[in-house]
Amino acid sequence: LGNQLSSALRSLNETTIVNEDTINQLLKEVGNALSKSDVSMSLIIQMRKNIKEKVKLDQMAAGLNKRKIIKQVVFDELIRLLDPGVPLWKPTKGKSNVVMFVGLQGAGKTTSVTKLAYFYKKKGFSTAIVCADTFRAGAFDQVRHNAAKAKIHYYGSETEKDPVVVARTGVDIFKKDGTEIIIVDTSGRHKQDSELFEEMKQIETAVKPDNCIFVMDSSIGQAAYEQATAFRSSVKVGSIIITKMDGNSMGGGAISAVAATNTPIIFIGTGEHLTDLELFDPSTFVSKLLGYGDMKGMLEKIKEVIPEDSTSLKEIAQGKFTLRSMQQQFQQIMQLGPIDKLVQMIPGMNQLPQLQGNEGGLKLKAYINILDSLSEKELDGKKPITQKRIITIAQGSGRHPNEVVELLEQHKAFEKIIGNKGGPGGGLGSLLAGK
Ligand code: GDP
Ligand code: MG
Repeated sequence: LGNQLSSALRSLNETTIVNEDTINQLLKEVGNALSKSDVSMSLIIQMRKNIKEKVKLDQMAAGLNKRKIIKQVVFDELIRLLDPGVPLWKPTKGKSNVVMFVGLQGAGKTTSVTKLAYFYKKKGFSTAIVCADTFRAGAFDQVRHNAAKAKIHYYGSETEKDPVVVARTGVDIFKKDGTEIIIVDTSGRHKQDSELFEEMKQIETAVKPDNCIFVMDSSIGQAAYEQATAFRSSVKVGSIIITKMDGNSMGGGAISAVAATNTPIIFIGTGEHLTDLELFDPSTFVSKLLGYGDMKGMLEKIKEVIPEDSTSLKEIAQGKFTLRSMQQQFQQIMQLGPIDKLVQMIPGMNQLPQLQGNEGGLKLKAYINILDSLSEKELDGKKPITQKRIITIAQGSGRHPNEVVELLEQHKAFEKIIGNKGGPGGGLGSLLAGK
């Protein structure tokens, strides 16, 4: 989805005349991309209508940057699709908040339950987990193991087979001792779907959750709308968590889930570890969808490691980005630890198809090797890098010449984003400078 959308927007960049036809063509492409990503047709039609209403070409003054306006409208409409206009649920301190998780088996419920408990624990809430999945063998062991690792209280039963009884007993125990966040994990699959939904209803009635969180795997594709609707019609879903956003999926199904449940996404899961849970930010999500990379995340990380007065940061703030700045950035990024995540945040890098898992980190190392083989003048952009030099650089760094070319292309992409040459919102450079 992301690639299709960004190429639709890119073709807008390339057209010289912006007229009604250009807009229709763009809307068609955006619509196609969204429909391939499981967004329902009626939603797409609505979105196209909204965009057309907002972009009134004949009313735009001659001097206005029409392209910029159209892009902004597309961006805003995508964000609107993700925002059901319902306030996010927040737990209240000093009382017991019961949170129930629902979702299909494998969606990432049990993993997310522990992540969420840990998230609130760090915020100073007392937390506990109740394992009401009596269906899957080993479910309680998984909870026990996860919870122990995160030092979180838990309850489950080896012998009781009725999930409703386990859920009620567990919640009662933790309510009595005043636990503030009690999270109920449920089973995801039954012999029959209707039985699963019946079970969810009964647990909901038994524990009266303050919030019911629907957990969805970001890669389920076409099934997103139907799946979310099915859960929504059995329990009162109040929030959504989209998991496995670290994978290849752009998470387009998330839009469908929001539309089907009229419910906001609160968190996204970005890995298998305890801390791989991020607050959902619609504008970051849409930026990624449009291929700009995760600007905010990247900025925060960069600001963490780079001293305010560093030369490269000053240069970047002025919209300059030499290969030397790239070398310095990469070296500093390498010091940050789990690099694969960070690499995915770098604008453009998340579109390299071969990057998976810690391959991102390896790629970064390869790039640093190549950069280390450049001459001073090449690093400072004072000497162009010729075909012949590419071969020599490749030999000097022990990398393939294609990789050198790839690095130079990446640098160009960075340059474009950091300078004011077509990056979103006036370039990363000015963002970094806090302007
Ligand atoms: P449940 O059946 O809904 O409880 O799903 P689990 O929590 O047991 O997760 C199923 C699998 O997905 C496990 O192997 C998890 O480690 C994995 N998983 C869950 N969330 C994420 C995520 O955000 N990213 C990745 N990469 N894997 C995840
Ligand atoms: Mg589970």
